[in-house]
Amino acid sequence: MTPGIRPLIAGNWKMNGTSDSLGELQAIAAGFADASGNEADGLICVPATLLDRAAKAMAGSPVASGGQDCHAKESGAHTGDISAAMLKDCGASHVIVGHSERRADHGESDAVVAAKAKAAWQAGLVAVICIGETREERVSGKTLSVLSTQIAGSVPAEATAANTVVAYEPVWAIGTGLIPTLPDVEEAHAHIRAELKRLIGAEADGVRILYGGSMKPDNAGELLSINNVDGGLIGGASLKAKDFLAIANAVK
Ligand code: PGA
Repeated sequence: MTPGIRPLIAGNWKMNGTSDSLGELQAIAAGFADASGNEADGLICVPATLLDRAAKAMAGSPVASGGQDCHAKESGAHTGDISAAMLKDCGASHVIVGHSERRADHGESDAVVAAKAKAAWQAGLVAVICIGETREERVSGKTLSVLSTQIAGSVPAEATAANTVVAYEPVWAIGTGLIPTLPDVEEAHAHIRAELKRLIGAEADGVRILYGGSMKPDNAGELLSINNVDGGLIGGASLKAKDFLAIANAVK
């Protein structure tokens, strides 16, 4: 954690969730304040098809709703795509941009991610900008330089503590049950904070930097206690209220 920064416990439901999942969202919304001791904000990023219903199911709770991607343009001839304003219209307050699965599956470059972050801001959404190294980059000692390049390319210079969250997600830790050593997480987060400072100055002191990649109830406590880890972006363990609330419980 970082003194003065309210943690954010965020879920990324990826391509999971239909109307059958609304009960799980209601349970997350109902239990979150108690689980986190009111010490954190909650967020669940659902598939766009579920967003409107998710936002209604969690209305009035400390858990916000978000999208998982948006188009960089406001509207127009982009079949199948969804704009940030459309997400906002369905009740989103946040949108994930640049998740490694989008970068890999859809060839999204840093420049595309930056354009999406700007589109999110334009629509009044907070952009959750994801960065992280691959296994190959980690093994060859390139992690910090990869993070520097991704920050320079994906985080626009107009980023503020209010409009941006940065999620550090080592690609090799996502969905694998593997996590970096705690000193490696600390080093990466300190580096991200320093690079954000170079980019946006003192504003960087308030930006929430989340850790993501196999965060689970049994490792959340140690991960969330690391300097500059201001919350988590949680995939698999966000799908069940029991697991997500157990992670929120680690904030207390
Ligand atoms: P995971 O996914 O928690 O299932 O590893 C995290 C993410 O991809 O955001």
